[in-house]
Amino acid sequence: MQFSVLSAPIMPQIDEDAPTEKLIEWTLEQYANQRMVLTTGFGMEGCALIDLYAAHEQPLDVIYLDTGFFFPETHHLIDELKVRYPHLSFINRGTSLTPEQQAAQHGDQLWKTNPDLCCKLRKVDPMQEALDHVEVWITALRRGQGPSRADLRVAEWNDKYEVIKISPLAKWSRQEVRNHVKANGVPYNELHDRGYPSVGCTHCTQAVAGVSPEDYSREGRWVGTEKTECGLHT
Ligand code: SF4
Repeated sequence: MQFSVLSAPIMPQIDEDAPTEKLIEWTLEQYANQRMVLTTGFGMEGCALIDLYAAHEQPLDVIYLDTGFFFPETHHLIDELKVRYPHLSFINRGTSLTPEQQAAQHGDQLWKTNPDLCCKLRKVDPMQEALDHVEVWITALRRGQGPSRADLRVAEWNDKYEVIKISPLAKWSRQEVRNHVKANGVPYNELHDRGYPSVGCTHCTQAVAGVSPEDYSREGRWVGTEKTECGLHT
């Protein structure tokens, strides 16, 4: 596999069609001396990616943002992952703004009155802080997750957070993700088996009738609004 470095800003050029395992090996070697984190909201994709990196038996910080509105099933999943991958560090960098403080400052049920502000306070701003001083940001995004992700590159410079963003699963399908977690016994959120194609906060995530764990969509998120993304990746 041929890799070369473009002039700015320390941006690699990667063979997008290389096997995922090669991409992960390359990430670990290329950025061994740089501050690298994997972030996840603990969707099925994130669980698969954690498993793929964990197989290398190297320490890695897995950052998540507890919004204060996680499902109990998500907390249970985090506990399972910590047990299964003791050499990884699972670090909560969620906001210190409590739901009560948010209500006092911005009114009750901000997720209904102004979900963009709610996501900014509880996701986007904390992510900005979590990625401060980080050089390489690994995500489990896939191109098939929607129009806003269709042009995702395996490696790209991210202006918003000023980091190199690596998405080794960019070309995977949901079926491939599902196959990986099932074949390897990877823990995943049991809500996926109960009609939730993706899982976010309790206030903004619903089950979708007729959906199986092989199906991914943004249906069930912010139902009744035009909103489909929290803003972390847009
Ligand atoms: S998903 Fe909903 S509850 Fe969670 S931060 Fe965004 S608007 Fe708030």
